[in-house]
Amino acid sequence: MHLSELSLRHFRNLRNQELELPSEGVALIGDNAQGKSNFLEAIYYLETLRSFRGARDAQMVSFGDDVFRVVGTTQGGADEPRGAQIAAAFQKKGKRKKVSIDGVEPDRLTDALGHFSAVIFSPADVDLVSGGPSERRRFLDIVLALNEPGYVGALSDYKKSLIRRNAALKARQPTSLVSVWDQGLVRAGAEVMVARRDWIMTRADAFDDYYARVSGGRRARMTYRPNVQLDDTTNVEAAQEAFREALLGARDREERRGVTLVGPHRDDLRLHLCDEGEELDLRDYGSGGQRRTAALALRLVEAMTIRERRSRRPMILLDDVFAELDGGRSERILELMEGEDTGQVVLTAPKEADVRLRRDALPRWRIQGGEITT
Ligand code: ATP
Ligand code: MG
Repeated sequence: MHLSELSLRHFRNLRNQELELPSEGVALIGDNAQGKSNFLEAIYYLETLRSFRGARDAQMVSFGDDVFRVVGTTQGGADEPRGAQIAAAFQKKGKRKKVSIDGVEPDRLTDALGHFSAVIFSPADVDLVSGGPSERRRFLDIVLALNEPGYVGALSDYKKSLIRRNAALKARQPTSLVSVWDQGLVRAGAEVMVARRDWIMTRADAFDDYYARVSGGRRARMTYRPNVQLDDTTNVEAAQEAFREALLGARDREERRGVTLVGPHRDDLRLHLCDEGEELDLRDYGSGGQRRTAALALRLVEAMTIRERRSRRPMILLDDVFAELDGGRSERILELMEGEDTGQVVLTAPKEADVRLRRDALPRWRIQGGEITT
């Protein structure tokens, strides 16, 4: 499966263009601020219906226009010959987002998530490691929302219950009016926790392996650090029980503080180096390169999840990722990506010399002032 055609309308600074993409991918070269990241943002929008840079939809409409539209046509390989057309549009006035797959609008927007199959690597990924727990929760939530059926629903139920419960606590309502939200919170929260635990547990070795391969032998680990204690085998019912008990134990503190203090909205995904028996948190002790390597390993695990869950090679989008890695690491990443049965690759770089993936096999496109020349 690869992206064969892309149509852009009023997306950021990009010219309205119809592009045909080669099945192996393309290297997009251009100076700073010409629209390279915008181009990847447009493609990746088809996977998650949001900006990989965390921008609001309205920010992506070209200045002075009202609607952006991105349409991608995929084409299958021998195993899955029929492709699909995914169209996404956003209107500033009225804040309307519209999606269709082969011309049909799904019942809910979330039904359109993860249809496209792509992973994006960007220099900002280092925030996954250096930033606070909320960055890592967001990463987990996106990966799980795209790959685990039922997760989006559980997460949104959890958030709804949490908001209402917090409002009741903040208004100092009596305990009975706070606890009406507990059942919904606990039921959805337990599903969220167990899904996060399972994903982290089953991919921890892969993370370690990718980290070791890029770093040239050093080891690192990812572990789930749930706010409500779970062990490796806790099932959903037992997780509900543990969550309910934690809520009971926190009740007095919650009433004093006026906010929900326990639950998966306080989880973390811990990333640490394992050196000679010592565990060092990458966030506190990792060097810049080590953090970037860990972030890259997370993305590689994300790509692996797509290969496993959807039996499909994800499209790989690389936004100027080699800029800050030493030569050895960059070489090993290149080798790794080439060995990983990678599908179509779209990479951006300011200079031709930075394009080393697939040696010279990737066609070069140029971008200037939002206009792409193929
Ligand atoms: P770098 O190499 O520095 O990362 P880049 O080529 O990736 O550069 P982009 O981030 O893709 O650059 O594009 C930045 C340009 O897009 C800026 O000039 C910015 O003003 C412009 N831009 C951003 N949003 C919009 C918008 N909504 N409408 C028009 N132009 C926009
Ligand atoms: Mg950029």
